[in-house]
Amino acid sequence: MNNHVTVLEIDAVSLQHNLAYFKQKLNPNTKVLAVVKAFGYGSESTEIAKLLQDKVDYFAVAYSNEGIILREAGIKTPILVLHPQIQNLEEIVKHRLEPNLYNFKILDAFLKLSDEAPLMNYPIHIKFNTGLNRLGFWHTDVPTIITQIKSSNNIKVQSIFSHLAASEDPNEQNFTIGQINNFAYIVKQFYDHLGYEPMIHILNTSGVINYPQAQFDMVRVGIGLYGFGNNEQETSQLRNTHTLKSIISQIHLIQPGETVGYNRAFVASRPTQSATIPVGHADGISRKLGNKKGYVFINGQPVPIIGNVCMDMIMVDVTDVDCKEGDEVILFNHQKHIEYIAHNCETIPYEILTAISQRVKRLVKS
Ligand SMILES: *Cc1c(COP(=O)(O)O)cnc(C)c1O
Repeated sequence: MNNHVTVLEIDAVSLQHNLAYFKQKLNPNTKVLAVVKAFGYGSESTEIAKLLQDKVDYFAVAYSNEGIILREAGIKTPILVLHPQIQNLEEIVKHRLEPNLYNFKILDAFLKLSDEAPLMNYPIHIKFNTGLNRLGFWHTDVPTIITQIKSSNNIKVQSIFSHLAASEDPNEQNFTIGQINNFAYIVKQFYDHLGYEPMIHILNTSGVINYPQAQFDMVRVGIGLYGFGNNEQETSQLRNTHTLKSIISQIHLIQPGETVGYNRAFVASRPTQSATIPVGHADGISRKLGNKKGYVFINGQPVPIIGNVCMDMIMVDVTDVDCKEGDEVILFNHQKHIEYIAHNCETIPYEILTAISQRVKRLVKS
């Protein structure tokens, strides 16, 4: 029995649609890596991985513990760990996860571990910083990396990759093309001196949309799978995957001059029906959405959040809506609504999706 009233529904059909949408943009040989970090962008990483495992070539997670969860759920697909630490390397190998090695400290540590084990041709990934200045080797490191790697049979460079800083921004096109060109130059050095050709990848979702010429061997699609194309036209081709729902717990009728919620932030100017909904900032509903900055849908009608968002509840003004206690409440079920929420929270849809806390029950609908 489902006794949770606040649920995040994940639409498996939409997810498959979105993957297919990106695949049809790619050359037939381009591999697809599905990014499922942060619980699959706030959804449910193991369920997402099970749905996608036969249709993608790779998964990526940020941290090793996220990869271990996938392995323990029986996922056999290769999993790239984007941001491992030295202290994670042993468990990475134990679960046959594939580390991104992004500086000499972690490369040396992995070479040492691979020698002691010993490992044979263990797949690793090398990341280059081409302008994001976040994680990755510099292009000047290439000769040393190649020398170190060639001296070992314990590891095999499965891929070389980089990450774009502003792939969604047409004003940064010159910068982005510069990143791609620098990356291509790094790759050429590897091809010339390594003795074999690792896979190459640089594009994220908006990279696939804006720079398809740079798809190389694989692309890394994250937010696109979850319905956002980083521009209006692309997003309209994608389907919403995350629907946050709850119910009305109670309705209060209050008189003009009476108030709702903490700090008495909402003051009724007319006889007002206020509905209380069991979802709050501890569930990922930002306090920035209080005081009519956010709205929800009840029986198809938009109704504003009134007063301050509480930890476990919000109140909405249902004076003009025909509804009763127990009725369904849609916190969001469309990308446009999620974008509106993100705008009013001064953030981007990525943060709205990943903010939905683990207290909210996940339900995958197929
Ligand atoms: C998160 C991430 C991605 C996915 O980016 P989207 O914009 O969500 O497609 C790709 N590559 C790296 C290195 C990332 O950290």
